[in-house]
Amino acid sequence: MIKRDSQTRAVKRVVIIGGGPAGTNCATHAARLGADVTLIESDIVGGAAHLLDCIPSKAMIATGGAMSMMNKATAMGLAKVDVVLDFEALRTRIADIEGRLESSVTSLLSSQGVRLIEGRGSLVSANEVEVATETGTETIEADVIVLSTGSRPRVPDWAPVDGVRVLTTRDAYPPPELPKHLVVIGSGVTGVEFVHMFNSFGSDVTLIVSRQQVLPDKDPEVASVLEKSFLERGVRLYKGARAEAIEVDETAENGRQVRVLCDDGRIATGSHVLLAIGSIPNSDGLGLDKAGVESEWGYVTVDHNCKSSVGHIYAAGDLSGKLPLSSVASMQGRKIAEHAMGLHAAPHRHLDYDKAASAIFTDPEIADVGLAEADAFAEGRKIRVTKVPFSVSAKALINNDPRGFVKIVSDPATGVVMGGSIVGRHAAELISVLALAVTAGLTVTDLVESLFVHPALAEVLGEAAE
Ligand SMILES: Cc1cc2nc3c(=O)[nH]c(=O)nc-3n(C[C@H](O)[C@H](O)[C@H](O)COP(=O)(O)OP(=O)(O)OC[C@H]3O[C@@H](n4cnc5c(N)ncnc54)[C@H](O)[C@@H]3O)c2cc1C
Repeated sequence: MIKRDSQTRAVKRVVIIGGGPAGTNCATHAARLGADVTLIESDIVGGAAHLLDCIPSKAMIATGGAMSMMNKATAMGLAKVDVVLDFEALRTRIADIEGRLESSVTSLLSSQGVRLIEGRGSLVSANEVEVATETGTETIEADVIVLSTGSRPRVPDWAPVDGVRVLTTRDAYPPPELPKHLVVIGSGVTGVEFVHMFNSFGSDVTLIVSRQQVLPDKDPEVASVLEKSFLERGVRLYKGARAEAIEVDETAENGRQVRVLCDDGRIATGSHVLLAIGSIPNSDGLGLDKAGVESEWGYVTVDHNCKSSVGHIYAAGDLSGKLPLSSVASMQGRKIAEHAMGLHAAPHRHLDYDKAASAIFTDPEIADVGLAEADAFAEGRKIRVTKVPFSVSAKALINNDPRGFVKIVSDPATGVVMGGSIVGRHAAELISVLALAVTAGLTVTDLVESLFVHPALAEVLGEAAE
């Protein structure tokens, strides 16, 4: 049962700096719980998630996916058609999606009575936030402050980013021109998604992989499926190479104007280069020191309730240095609203980052949740691992896509589902079943006895649970 804190004031003044998924979710939930909420956003409501990261990248990947499907039309019993990418139409499509999402978030905030200020916020003391707007500055007093200013791409000093030849992810929705040959630096989740995206648009792609495996933090069996697919699609992999310089030569012939110099002496040449080597927090100029808020490498240090070193100041989303996912940011925002408004924060209501599902929108898609097989072995934990390929599924054959598998990690004694990985079409959707199982403590028997639709890819989840 949820208990209310008897000490809670009648109306709490909550001020939130940063209107991405963390800030907007916190704002709507705090307002629903009776707070007087002000949200300060310097750019677009919905945040980098809507404007610069998740949504435009997934919109472009979906367009590339439609192209790939149409290029495989004959395998589905259709006559071959020539598909041509229309960059201007793609630009309009992305702007349209972003506009619709921004207006739906803005309407939601307004319907909950959230005061929205367009401006740049910073702390001036532990209870005061200053907002710089186009017309001047305003100081707002607060009982609770939430910092949710997100992050931005990391640009090392050896990378001459110009937004034309040398791009960060944020210059690529879409870039000014379609790269003839894109060199991607960084083989984590973001890097491989951009490799997949531009390869499906028809660009040649070279990927610089600093270790011996793409997706170095993922289950090797999962990562190897993606590596194989990249190689089949003609992607060049420079494994074990660390980029350390970029040269741009606008006079070069054959359109190969960009050279990426690696630490092992190899040089990758292309028409464009894209950096996907992580992000840094947007905490500069936020006034953390003025309020006594502690941070590490620019990330606000938070406890399990997302509380900073100053009791009534919270941090959420990428700025909190936890899992940099939009879904996690939203949930942190919600949990902060509950905690700040005095709802009882029993341990079971805390956010458990180990149970967050995540996906990589490549072809095939990759998704996982909970305990990974490799991590369990590394920790010496007893687990049961069961795996079934999609090639046994009627629906996969109907889709003409039998690649990939479902792997389930469970407790051998109790059958409780501890984690799982899915590689294959719609993995990002299918993983939700395993995410629910992990969060709710369901057993493999619960999955086996669920009456799934037939024919559906989800049936493989039931079979993998056997
Ligand atoms: C290429 C890419 C693809 C991604 N794809 C996915 C995905 O598919 N799924 C997923 O879950 N995650 C994805 N992510 C991660 C996701 O985008 C972030 O985790 C998420 O945006 C974090 O949300 P946030 O609320 O912390 O910050 P943001 O979404 O970054 O929002 C922060 C907001 O704060 C504003 N702001 C900053 N400073 C100030 C200030 N001083 N005053 C006022 N406003 C300020 C900014 O303008 C911004 O609107 C992706 C990331 C990248 C780079």
